[in-house]
Amino acid sequence: MSLPVPEGSVPDGAAPRLVLATHNKGKLKELRELLRDQVPGLDVDTQVVDAAAAGAPDVVETGVTFAENSLLKARAVADATGLVAIADDSGLAVDVLGGAPGIFSARWAGRHGDDAANLRLLLDQLNDVPDAHRGAAFVCAAALAVPAAGDGGARREVVEYGQLEGVLLREPRGAGGFGYDPVLQPLGEDRSCAELSPSEKNAISHRGKAFRALLPAIVEALK
Ligand code: IMP
Repeated sequence: MSLPVPEGSVPDGAAPRLVLATHNKGKLKELRELLRDQVPGLDVDTQVVDAAAAGAPDVVETGVTFAENSLLKARAVADATGLVAIADDSGLAVDVLGGAPGIFSARWAGRHGDDAANLRLLLDQLNDVPDAHRGAAFVCAAALAVPAAGDGGARREVVEYGQLEGVLLREPRGAGGFGYDPVLQPLGEDRSCAELSPSEKNAISHRGKAFRALLPAIVEALK
C-alpha cells in the first residue's frame, strides 16, 4: 500500500533539478532528447523543466555576444530558482556581413521574431554577392550556471559553442524548421536546413553541438 502524498508536495524523483532558461517548448523538447539516458539518475521528463515551470522571470538580453546573452539567462534563472540552469543564445553569422545579423538575427528587419521579413531582407542585401562568397554559419553559445552553495562559495559557470557551417541560397527552400533554415545549405548537403528532418538537423546543428559539448559539465553539476 502506498501512502498518500501530502497536498502541495512533489513526489520523490519529480522535483525539478535542471532548468532551461527559455519559454520555447520546442527547445525544451530538443534538450530533453539530448539529455535522455545521459545523466545518471536524471528523469528528463519530470526533472528538466523550462523557465515558466520553474517560476523564473523573463530575462532581457542586454549582452553583445552570444556567450554574454546565454550567461545572462542561465545566471538569472539559477539565482531565481536555486537550481542548476542552462541557456542558449544563437543566430546566423554571414561572412560578407562581418558576422551579422549575429545577435540581431531575430530582429534583423526591425521586429522581433518576424522570420519571413528577416530572411527576405537578408536575401535582398546579398543579392549581388556571388556564390563563392555566400558562406555563413548558425552559431550557438550554451551556458551552464550552478548556484552558489550558500557556504560563501561562488556561482559556477561554463560556456560551450557550436557551429553549423554552410552557404546562403538565393531563394528559400523547404517547409521545415524556422528562422533562416530555408536559406542555409549545410556544407556537403544539397538540401537547405528546412529540407532536413528534425533529427537530421539536430545531429549537425549548432545548438546540438553546443549542448553536447556542455554535457560533461551538466553531468558534473547534477552529481
Ligand atoms: P534564439 O537563440 O532562439 O533567440 O534565436 C535567435 C534567432 O536566430 C532566431 O530567431 C533565428 O532567426 C536565428 N536562428 C537561431 N538558430 C536557428 C536555426 O537553427 N535555424 C534558423 N534560424 C535560427
